[in-house]
Amino acid sequence: MAVITPRWLYVVAAATGTAWGDPQIIDETLDPVDVNAINPGDVVGIGIHTGNARRGYEIGRQLRERGAWVVFGGIHATLFPEEAHSEGGAHSVVKGDADLVWQGVVADCLAGRPQQVYEGGRVSGDRFVSARWDLLPRGRYMWASVQTVRGCPKHCSFCSVWRTDGQEPRQRAVDRVVQEVVELRRLGFRFIALADDNFYPVTMEDLAQARRRSDKTRLHELEELRQERFELMEQLALLPDDLVFYTQITMEAAEDPAFLAAMRRARIRGALVGVESVTDEGLKDVYKGFNLSGDDLVARLREFRNHDVHVLGSFIFGLPSDRADTFEATVSLAERANLTFAQFVLLTPFPGTIDFEKWAAEQAKDPVTVDGVPITRHWLIPEHKRPKLFTNHPTMPLEEIRQRTQGAWDRFYSWRGIWARSRVVESLRARLAFVLISKLYRQMYANTGIATDSARVQRSTRKARWIGTLCRGLFMGKPMPELAMPDRSARAT
Ligand code: SF4
Repeated sequence: MAVITPRWLYVVAAATGTAWGDPQIIDETLDPVDVNAINPGDVVGIGIHTGNARRGYEIGRQLRERGAWVVFGGIHATLFPEEAHSEGGAHSVVKGDADLVWQGVVADCLAGRPQQVYEGGRVSGDRFVSARWDLLPRGRYMWASVQTVRGCPKHCSFCSVWRTDGQEPRQRAVDRVVQEVVELRRLGFRFIALADDNFYPVTMEDLAQARRRSDKTRLHELEELRQERFELMEQLALLPDDLVFYTQITMEAAEDPAFLAAMRRARIRGALVGVESVTDEGLKDVYKGFNLSGDDLVARLREFRNHDVHVLGSFIFGLPSDRADTFEATVSLAERANLTFAQFVLLTPFPGTIDFEKWAAEQAKDPVTVDGVPITRHWLIPEHKRPKLFTNHPTMPLEEIRQRTQGAWDRFYSWRGIWARSRVVESLRARLAFVLISKLYRQMYANTGIATDSARVQRSTRKARWIGTLCRGLFMGKPMPELAMPDRSARAT
């Protein structure tokens, strides 16, 4: 049982085509790969991000030894193609989007002459491949996922999205998004993540700036992008009313009542908002000056709730400007701002980010290693030996930051706190779902204090699965195999 469908697996499956039959999909959050089931000459695509790169490399080496063709892709392989070759036994690496090049990669492997690297580039929105949801195993996921836009115009220092997916939003055609949603609802999914880098790619400020230019080309482009967002939301509003969507968005959307109202009509009931820090200094640390702090921040976050959009606020701890009282202040603000969920993550220099480059340059002067592995390649260090924090803090010991972060999770997700927040839903069944999902979220992501010994990690994973299984019944709906595409001539009221 897993929480959310790993969309990219089903997109790459679709990109494979059908000439060689249906591809087999393996999601290790469900079941570990059975290496013995893979035969010499098979073509295996392994997608990795930094967090699971080490496991991906282990599988890659084993499969190459068995005689399979091994191809890596995903954000991490895009950033470190040479590492996938040296550590993961790759024959080949796909950089960027696989949508258009993947079929050629498979053909080259089967012909025995794969290239070292394929440049998938950034595919335009009208050419994104739709996922093959017909291959989805039944009853194994709680929520589904659909992508509506890739890329983000911002440039936060801890984030690699704007560099890998680009700063120019690439939006998919409305009909193709809606078609996938319809397919998923036919299968019984009611909760669907709009798995976008940033669902609100055009802000009021962007429009105001473009309006000030004498050349109106940019303004028209932005207006068109914005209009397409509204069209998408109008179409979503016409779908069965038991559907619930959630997404990822910047805080600036709260200044845009028309957009929030359209979200409400479309039943986009939840949004992850990167708050990051509750102080001006913290926001400067992460190049996120477009966010607010203090009471203005509370007011802005509450604006989402005023439009029935529940916020999962994301906060970063370990910023240079953090002090001992920042942790309490952050949780208090999260409570005052009526956040429905919150996550408290430790500042981690992920590759592809500005933070990583600065940190790697510092490290180069006096490199630290663990078992011979430089910590600038921290993902290659076995998890139980990997440091939890990588950058020394100017005023606090790292252990104190870790413990205080754990304290923030514990306070926000106390039974009392969760039960109080569960008032946002009405029926007892919905409140139960709320409590379970809060605990599941806490179980899955509050890893800052969980010991790294394998027994506790396994217990924690088992508990998350158990909660997930309970939750699934609460989140799925009756399949609607006959569901048709919405009538475009109709309009939601
Ligand atoms: S953190 Fe969010 S807003 Fe900032 S660049 Fe990444 S996707 Fe964009």
